[in-house]
Amino acid sequence: MRASWRIWDTRSRMRIEDRALALRRVAFRDTSWIVTLLTPGHGVVAAVARAARRGGRDGARGALSGFHRLEVEIRARAPDGLGTLTQVAIDRPRNGLPFRAAASAAGQLLIEAVLRGEMPADPGGGALFFCLDGALEALEAEVEPLRVVAGTVNRLVGLFGHGWRVGDCVGCGGRSGLQFFSVRRGGAVCGGCGAPYAGRLPRVSAGVLQAMADRSWPPELTALSRAEQVMLYQLGMAGLTRIVARSLSADLPFRRLAGVDERGV
Ligand SMILES: [Zn+2]
Repeated sequence: MRASWRIWDTRSRMRIEDRALALRRVAFRDTSWIVTLLTPGHGVVAAVARAARRGGRDGARGALSGFHRLEVEIRARAPDGLGTLTQVAIDRPRNGLPFRAAASAAGQLLIEAVLRGEMPADPGGGALFFCLDGALEALEAEVEPLRVVAGTVNRLVGLFGHGWRVGDCVGCGGRSGLQFFSVRRGGAVCGGCGAPYAGRLPRVSAGVLQAMADRSWPPELTALSRAEQVMLYQLGMAGLTRIVARSLSADLPFRRLAGVDERGV
């Protein structure tokens, strides 16, 4: 199952084989789950995992419960119908992440952000899948959770179609003296435009703006101080909150575990 593809059999039933990340599990009937999966080839897909709560075939419950990268097969009667998960296997195990509290909270926060974004389909080429998969892989490799989340939430803001404008001032278009940030206007503000609002607009360093502009993945945030990482995290979360029109429930537990203070932006 290296690639993703779609096969229609003779009874017009759909079969999907793809990699997947489990975003959500909801109890269904006595022993089953409805699982929501993010796949690189088919975007977000929901399927019934029969008997999974009882353990399921081949350890389906364990596979669907963690942060693992999975390989799945789903069959459905129609492309937009609720399918049945017919096979699930762990492609890339992540067995350490759930046992580190801050990393686990970080993973849950990012999964919630992807779910709340309600992308009808991946914005292209599996970018959303690879963003989340890369972040979970970094968390499994014990990269500091704050760094992973700070980079990833800003990347998600871009993938949701609300990329920050950081190359010039959102007020006047000037390219120099960028030192404030306006979440509402979606970008950097120069010293001249920001001065009257200096009490309300957060100040940002050149390093934070550079990190926001960086399209490489995974993000290289090693040059940022911890205060800059916190600022990047807070701006990204403020952007996500605007996009999904509510705050994320995993934000507070993550802040507590990662030692991020409560000051909003
Ligand atoms: Zn300006």
